[in-house]
Amino acid sequence: MKEKIYTIPLSEAYEEPSECPFCKLEKRLEAEAVEYALGASMMEPDSRIVSNEKGFCRRHFTKMSEQKGSALSLALVLDTHMARVIEKMEEIVGKKSASGLFKKKESAADALCSLLHETEQSCVLCEKIESTLSKFACTFWELYKKEPEFHEKVNQSKGFCLPHFALLLQMAGEELSGSKKEELCRELIELELANLKRVGEDVNWFTKKFDYRYNDAPWKESKDAPPRTIEKLVKFIDSEK
Ligand SMILES: [Zn+2]
Ligand SMILES: [Zn+2]
Repeated sequence: MKEKIYTIPLSEAYEEPSECPFCKLEKRLEAEAVEYALGASMMEPDSRIVSNEKGFCRRHFTKMSEQKGSALSLALVLDTHMARVIEKMEEIVGKKSASGLFKKKESAADALCSLLHETEQSCVLCEKIESTLSKFACTFWELYKKEPEFHEKVNQSKGFCLPHFALLLQMAGEELSGSKKEELCRELIELELANLKRVGEDVNWFTKKFDYRYNDAPWKESKDAPPRTIEKLVKFIDSEK
């Protein structure tokens, strides 16, 4: 059995029905990661070297700005990251102008462009959350294979959002192989398709309710069908549900 740090939060994510238990899990991991980035992590020189180098994505800078009582921590992290960005830009500009006569292949502008795109796309928190979530996905398959109670709980659930479903399929090979992998993946694909169809039918019924011929028909489960459909199509970790 995998360590409890993975099995317990995974079981908890299944306690209440939702369109994606992994979204709940990611939401929790993200909140912890933001808190850590502005707490213990910003005091550690090694972590600071990494955050100075990689920085954060727009979403996570926003989350960090919203963290109450952390203005100074955030400013310290920003201060040294900004200094490193400027340093790297100057390194490129300096190098290019010094060797400009000999190396015309890539201009300073092109090299800066690559650096800036790289900086924009890299995020310490995204990487951390992604790596922990992959471990949860491995634990998921281990439990799905070995624990009948968990297996049943999953089969009674509403499936997953598409990005987290893709992650699960991607990680299946880490825990399973051969015919067992084939069998359990097929079972999960069927669960996912059945739930995509359920939500698809709800949103379809929602559109019908705007047709006068369906005026007197009940709303059924479709009143919140558009946001639930979005929850299925993309990660929806800001949902309060
Ligand atoms: Zn999800
Ligand atoms: Zn991020």
